[in-house]
Amino acid sequence: SAVAAAPTVRAPLPVLGRDVAVPLVTGGEVTYAALDYAASAPALQRVWDDVAAYAPYYGSVHRGAGYLSQLSTDLFENARRTVAEFLDCRSGDQVVFTRSTTDSLNLLAAALPEGCEVFVFETEHHASLLPWRGVRVTYLDAPGSPAQAVATLERALADRDPYGPALVCVTGASNVTGELWPVRELAAAAHAHGARIVLDAAQLAPHRAVSVRDLDVDWVAFSGHKLYAPFGSGVLAGRADWLRVAEPYLAGGGASRKVARRADGGVDVEWHDGVARHEAGSPNVIGAHAVASACTALAEAGFDALAAREDALVSAVREGLADVAEVRFLSLFGDDAPRVGVLSFVVDGWNSSHFSAALSAEYGIGVRDGLFCAHPLVRRLVGSEAGGQGECGAPDAGSLNAIRVSFGAGTPDEHVERFVRAVRELVR
Ligand code: PMP
Repeated sequence: SAVAAAPTVRAPLPVLGRDVAVPLVTGGEVTYAALDYAASAPALQRVWDDVAAYAPYYGSVHRGAGYLSQLSTDLFENARRTVAEFLDCRSGDQVVFTRSTTDSLNLLAAALPEGCEVFVFETEHHASLLPWRGVRVTYLDAPGSPAQAVATLERALADRDPYGPALVCVTGASNVTGELWPVRELAAAAHAHGARIVLDAAQLAPHRAVSVRDLDVDWVAFSGHKLYAPFGSGVLAGRADWLRVAEPYLAGGGASRKVARRADGGVDVEWHDGVARHEAGSPNVIGAHAVASACTALAEAGFDALAAREDALVSAVREGLADVAEVRFLSLFGDDAPRVGVLSFVVDGWNSSHFSAALSAEYGIGVRDGLFCAHPLVRRLVGSEAGGQGECGAPDAGSLNAIRVSFGAGTPDEHVERFVRAVRELVR
């Protein structure tokens, strides 16, 4: 097969859910092929084991004098250090634990300095496109190449007041096409024009090493549930300056250093100026521990090896379907542009929702169809003005949804082989 012919770089990492049996409409059962990593990746077995080992001992973080509370506080703060190391942060950078990428970017949006302008490509996920409310936002046109992306940003930034604050928000890897964006070059362009840059690494961090120092980005955001850890944990890492003086993202205990009743009956509050300022409430210590465990596991596996294996799987899909004229892959930068294990496509003569449903019902393959919370991009690539009226990414009558297949560190060759075979059979 195409997969067998590709270099096998390493065995897939053990993940949960490898043995889930699903019934087929044609009769019998098959093990579930999770090919929707871009939505949520299965947890690494290692992450699950680390969480299970700690679970009997958890206590409240930063709050108790007892042994378990101290243990949990250590674990939480160690997780912060592990994430900082994973992202190769600069000294002085902060790692704020959030709930998700969406939460991280909303936190940053709430911390923008007065008069800040925001620049964002229309091709972004809605989590990057939409949090910038109450500020001037310039939406940049979809570029046709990485070089054009840099040129487009340069042009937009050249017109702005270089002394006013500005933020550029870019994706590291598209959740629709999987294509890698020229983050280092975009960061250089931003900085040359006095702007800051935040990297949406939701799709990049699970697949490629992300170095804050090397990319020279000001902040990075990612989600635990796409990085082989559970839901409800995310990260915003980067410069402390804007965050230190911003109003706390959530007001409450933990964020406040001193609260006192005033003589006039009101209340005076002094907020913390470290990470605690934006981490009000009892923190998600299990989530942070799980994210740190995933970071350690991925770093140990090595991103060069993980990426090489993933490249082989991407090639297997592309080559396995190359002669199927009905399948059209979606890309901005060209079919051969470097990408992570994410591919979207449409199938001539098929409604994408029906096609995805058939992959599930007849082959036990879980993919996704829709607009992937990136409506402007998918509409542009699919060439449809209809659609996108329903819930985020949900199919609605008359829309031309795309189908997305995505995989990662836990994907066995067999899942990709089954997918290629299934698509060929369905089209036939
Ligand atoms: N950015 C990108 C590129 C994504 O793919 C996603 C998730 N699909 C997000 C942001 C949002 O992540 P979350 O839903 O975990 O907040």
